[in-house]
Amino acid sequence: MINRRTTMIVNIGKIKLGWGQPIVIQSMTKVATTDVDKCVKQVKELTQAGCGLVRIAIPTKADSEAFRQIVDKCDVPLVADIHFSPARAIEAIEGGAAKIRLNPGNIKDQDDIVRIIDAAKMHGTAIRVGVNEASIRELGKEKVDIPAENRVHLMLKEMEYYVRLFETNKFPNIVLSAKSADTVRTIEVNRAIAEKFHYPMHLGLTHAGLPEDAKVSSAVAIGSLLADGIGDTIRVSTAGDPVKEIEIGREILKSLGLIETNEPELIVCPTCGRCQVDVVKLATKVKKFLKKIDKPIRVAVMGCIVNGPGEAADADVAICAAKGKGYIYRHGKKLKSVPEKDLLKTLEKEIEKL
Ligand code: SF4
Repeated sequence: MINRRTTMIVNIGKIKLGWGQPIVIQSMTKVATTDVDKCVKQVKELTQAGCGLVRIAIPTKADSEAFRQIVDKCDVPLVADIHFSPARAIEAIEGGAAKIRLNPGNIKDQDDIVRIIDAAKMHGTAIRVGVNEASIRELGKEKVDIPAENRVHLMLKEMEYYVRLFETNKFPNIVLSAKSADTVRTIEVNRAIAEKFHYPMHLGLTHAGLPEDAKVSSAVAIGSLLADGIGDTIRVSTAGDPVKEIEIGREILKSLGLIETNEPELIVCPTCGRCQVDVVKLATKVKKFLKKIDKPIRVAVMGCIVNGPGEAADADVAICAAKGKGYIYRHGKKLKSVPEKDLLKTLEKEIEKL
């Protein structure tokens, strides 16, 4: 059982982030913001896949204008992604952003940050305060070549500086994020931030890679922090279709029991020299059948009766194969022996009975 860290609650449009609230999976649109129809279509695809917050890049004034139209056409809260430009930040806030993502280090003049805070206060907009390893510098100095061992400390120091700036300006509606492309430093810096502040946190790795490469590093970084109870919203950054990011995010949350889902879970033994049937072929057919099931059940397909029954004891229904036949188990108890050719059909019937 994971105990979520206690944080403040931050309102982001119609959703809330923080302690006691569901962990929100987010992603970004990857089409030109000025192509309003394409952008709205992608927002809808993401929402259908389980995305609870969608971020949209706002690099130009034309994007700000398009963003306003996109907000009108979408139900999900939208986050405006801002870099360098206070004008874009204020336009996005006035255009209906539920939250803006801001790396204050990218805004040169502190008075501009205060102007953004004032606009956000007026419109009830939340602000994600970001610190990125790629842009850290020693405050007051030109960019320096910072050794890896100093970076976590500097990111924390920078975050502290900006949190105090927001607090001094009486703006508590903030979500904190510290990103790195390095898995270990991402874990370290987020643990340190969680220890020091009580605001909700956004987790993710930057530039994680193609989906097949990003999957493992993101699961390790995000999953380790979530297992510590840290994190209120997550983004798995991958190159390509953003719907893939949501699928990976859901898998991470599912594996930690942090998402309520009706999807069945399939456990398959890794197979070894004791295996008595083609487990992969059987499990592939079971998986296909489970796609039609809308119940949070656990089903196991095991290759033998030596270790299979014990390893599948937690499953609602299990098959443990033997030579030319298989045994069907329900909640760890043996029900019957079935010839190999009837195993799938019998398993399906048992699943339907549940
Ligand atoms: S369940 Fe049996 S066949 Fe499968 S990995 Fe375990 S010992 Fe090997």
